[in-house]
Amino acid sequence: MSPLDPAQSLPPSGDPSAQANPGNDAGAQGLDERDRRFMQMALDQAVLAQSAGEVPVGAVLVRGGEVLATGYNQPIGRHDPTAHAEIVALRAAALQVGNYRLSGCELYVTLEPCAMCAGAIQHARIARLVWGAKDPKTGACGSVVDLFSQPLLNHHAQVVSQVMAPESAALLQGFFVQRRALARQQVLAARAERP
Ligand SMILES: [Zn+2]
Repeated sequence: MSPLDPAQSLPPSGDPSAQANPGNDAGAQGLDERDRRFMQMALDQAVLAQSAGEVPVGAVLVRGGEVLATGYNQPIGRHDPTAHAEIVALRAAALQVGNYRLSGCELYVTLEPCAMCAGAIQHARIARLVWGAKDPKTGACGSVVDLFSQPLLNHHAQVVSQVMAPESAALLQGFFVQRRALARQQVLAARAERP
């Protein structure tokens, strides 16, 4: 089971926004159309991950209102445990601008970043992070730990949480339901083949 699988630990309603952090969730701030537009692009990236058989998570890197780079989750295809959507987008953007620092940029990602990605976001000096569904297993923006609220960590990112969270969570849940059904079919097929 992937550590990204939220299906095991989402609230019974399946609505991850039910556990919103007071004062920090998109609902409290009012959903910004601009944020929704870029998050929809990140969701489109997540669909690309799903098409490749990867856990559907997508990211979009924005500078000055323009998309600088995109990325989707692909650790299986790339044989790379670091190939999360955020890292893929950060690497592509840094290559494009010729600078490992992406000051002033915004990162949109459909799932709450893990500790590795939160660290990379901080190293890249991302100015604003907007994320979608909560990840109760590995989320490092409040679910398991909040690396953006540590006073001793020198980070620069403003964090907006749970933008289009239901859409992102539905994509993830659909993926894992489908994957479990496929696994069950394979078990049944293997049993049927036994003499
Ligand atoms: Zn990550």
